[in-house]
Amino acid sequence: MPVYPNRIDSKLPNVGTTIFTVMSRLAQEHNAINLSQGFPDFDCAPKLRELVTKYFNAGLNQYPPMAGVMALRERVAEKAAALYGTAYDPEHEVTIVPGATYGIFTAVTAFVRPGDEVVLFEPAYDSYAPAVEVNGGKPVYVRLRYPDFSIDWQAVRRAITPKTRMIVINTPNNPTASVFSAEDMRGLESILRDTGIVVVSDEVYEHLIYDGCRHQSVARFPGLAERSFVVSSFGKTYSVTGWKMGYVIAPKELMAEFRKVHQFNVFVTNGPLQHVLAEYMQDKDAYLSLAAFYQRKRDFFIDALRSSRFRVLPSRGTFFQNLAYDAITGEKDTELAVRLTKEKGVASIPLSVFYHDGHCDKVLRFCFAKSEETLAKGAEILSGI
Ligand code: PMP
Ligand code: GLN
Repeated sequence: MPVYPNRIDSKLPNVGTTIFTVMSRLAQEHNAINLSQGFPDFDCAPKLRELVTKYFNAGLNQYPPMAGVMALRERVAEKAAALYGTAYDPEHEVTIVPGATYGIFTAVTAFVRPGDEVVLFEPAYDSYAPAVEVNGGKPVYVRLRYPDFSIDWQAVRRAITPKTRMIVINTPNNPTASVFSAEDMRGLESILRDTGIVVVSDEVYEHLIYDGCRHQSVARFPGLAERSFVVSSFGKTYSVTGWKMGYVIAPKELMAEFRKVHQFNVFVTNGPLQHVLAEYMQDKDAYLSLAAFYQRKRDFFIDALRSSRFRVLPSRGTFFQNLAYDAITGEKDTELAVRLTKEKGVASIPLSVFYHDGHCDKVLRFCFAKSEETLAKGAEILSGI
């Protein structure tokens, strides 16, 4: 008799399948243009594939060091020093991880105890709240101000209590495509001064930032860097989201706690791919040219939408373009996203899924990490709605 399943008391009773899986599957079923889940529809650089062949044939197929291959940790530290002006020690302060999702989860697990509060900005990337909850923590939400998704720092101040253990930030931001300014970062720095609050800074879109905006890494701000985990992903930067490779940077004392969990969670990250990335990172242009590459895609998509009734919201970073549809229909965004996929053949992500209470501003998120052909087709369909 299957008695046991009836006794399962889920640690995540409200969690289903992620919206990205749901929408990509629906797009496939209906042969729709998939502008939902964030991933490129073009391949990575040929050089990167060549390096894969080289290093998988180089006899490096056993466990690498727990914290990562030193050459790659050194390249990551050099990049942080060159771009954000902060020296991190590759020995103790850089860890190579199997993707940013893992990096965030492990940082949360290393610090959040049952009953701890973690401040999240909403709309929030969907992995944050479950990572907190499965560790017994309580997400405390601060809603960004629509339509510019700016931060109400007074609301952040009010959200912080003696139980606040952590705050998770994400700039450039998924799903809003907004970016934090230097003033925002100084605001956060001043709020956190004299507290023991740890920051997890999700910077996976650090190189995808437009219109001359500068990426405001926590690493630039000493009062933040001293308490922060910087998390990034090679998947976004090198168009290899399926590799699941990323890195985490943090001051030594924080990183020591991170590695205690890391060594029993995954132990090590894929070895040969670390060698590949270490060599590829020597070419700085590969990440420095990304902003211009994606800005052209954003502008191409926006231009192709000029006769559309969708309203184009600002996209200052990430590879997402949000479109408001309040002039078109009063439908809930989740319903519209499904309907557009099934009936019109274009898939998107409804923004309300990134709010714990399903708050809906009537906005859909479209990924423009696609070929111009795909973007043109998608925009043509949208322009007819
Ligand atoms: N954070 C944000 C904001 C993301 O958009 C994504 C993925 N698209 C991730 C984390 C996860 O990155 P990874 O695939 O390296 O786990
Ligand atoms: N981060 C990507 C997005 O926002 C998807 C990653 C995933 O499927 N979990 O679309």
